Amino acid sequence: MSGGTYLGMPSFPVAAKTATHDGRLRGNMHRAMNTIRTRRARAVSELDDWAQLRQAGKEIKDRALRHLDEYLLQIEERVTEAGGHVHWAADAAAANRIVAGLAKAAGAAEVVKIKSMATQEIGLNEALAAEGIDAWETDLAELIVQLGHDRPSHIVVPAIHRNRSEIREIFRAEMGRNGRPAPDDLTDRPADLAEAARLHLREKFLRAKVAVSGANFLIAETGTAVIVESEGNGRMCLTLPETLISVVGIEKVLPTQRDLEVFLQLLPRSSTAERMNPYTSMWTGVTAGDGPSDFHLVLLDNGRTETLADEVGRQALRCIRCAACLNVCPVYERAGGHAYGSVYPGPIGAILSPQLRGIDNPVDASLPFASSLCGACYEACPVAIDIPEVLVHLRERAVEQPGHGAERAVMNAATWLLDHPAALAAAERAASATRKLHPRTLNLGPAAAWSDTRDLPEVPSESFRAWWRKQHR
Ligand code: SF4
Repeated sequence: MSGGTYLGMPSFPVAAKTATHDGRLRGNMHRAMNTIRTRRARAVSELDDWAQLRQAGKEIKDRALRHLDEYLLQIEERVTEAGGHVHWAADAAAANRIVAGLAKAAGAAEVVKIKSMATQEIGLNEALAAEGIDAWETDLAELIVQLGHDRPSHIVVPAIHRNRSEIREIFRAEMGRNGRPAPDDLTDRPADLAEAARLHLREKFLRAKVAVSGANFLIAETGTAVIVESEGNGRMCLTLPETLISVVGIEKVLPTQRDLEVFLQLLPRSSTAERMNPYTSMWTGVTAGDGPSDFHLVLLDNGRTETLADEVGRQALRCIRCAACLNVCPVYERAGGHAYGSVYPGPIGAILSPQLRGIDNPVDASLPFASSLCGACYEACPVAIDIPEVLVHLRERAVEQPGHGAERAVMNAATWLLDHPAALAAAERAASATRKLHPRTLNLGPAAAWSDTRDLPEVPSESFRAWWRKQHR
């Protein structure tokens, strides 16, 4: 992986075509999506004030983004006062360099990791491996992905494309090569699989000197990092190792501790359909005799400042990575997460990846088109990101890129025509006069699969404006 792009990935239409022909993948996805959607809808419907919470979440995030420069400096000050160290990483390479340097300085040949989208985005595991440092994922689904030499396909449930028997095979084949082996008689019962993972991970937790995490939120007022999780692996990583390195995107800032009240309701219900997540860990710098004695916060930009400069696109930075938009998206359900060629799949990936990575490569240029614009993602989003609006905005940017000359020419001609009423009227008259000669379909060459199955609308014998003039003469 490089800069968040999976090297060699085809653009979305090509990857999605392969995925939609994979019956097993579609079956796994369909079952999982149905369950998650139903449970989330139930969890959300329990709260009478969900709409107000959603509005509050949107406004808090917008305020944080508006004053991001001040809040980030405040965080640096608070973390430093509390005995931690703050590092600024402009891009993925800088962040990876900082983390590898810190791990080496701590004398670590391995690190344990809490599930973190930011570290996946920068390709941290691969960068550490290049420096001779093993990075062990400790979230169950991330462990399945790592042992299976696979890629995550969902933000919250990265191994959603795997079923139980596949997971058992992965554990049996791979655990022994990476530490404590799975029992010979391992079944595919969820409890047995979880127990095998627990035993496999336990020895890694007890041995690790360094842990690497992300954070769901960073509180500017206090310099506190917050992680919510369901398995307890996070808490093990945050308390046992001597050194903790947290790599956090700069958009994760919340102004005050009080703001958590809103997000600790929005996030668990939207992501795992829980009223409250099982484990919420908060830490501020270091505390003698409690948890890691060395804490480093790496503040990651990696395209976020540029995204913030885009008036329409910046709303993507409100995202709290709950995956509710993925779970309701008909395109994601059919294509699966791998088709998006990024660690951020689904609707949020379609607007975030092209902004963080730039839209000048085929994978990212294709992502804003990976949507039917049905609007289900916007409805589900707990911080009211208008994903369809950003998709349309990014489509405009994508067609500015080389390779879209024909579309640009057509749009420019249409713009000119609609700007000149006399020319438009003349064109309408000409179209009506020649209507018998018009073809019924457009043969668009490479786009023939689309154009050949669509009839061209019949041109009326007179335009609406001509008809109107006649009626009101
Ligand atoms: S865009 Fe909204 S719904 Fe999608 S992951 Fe982000 S916060 Fe959740």
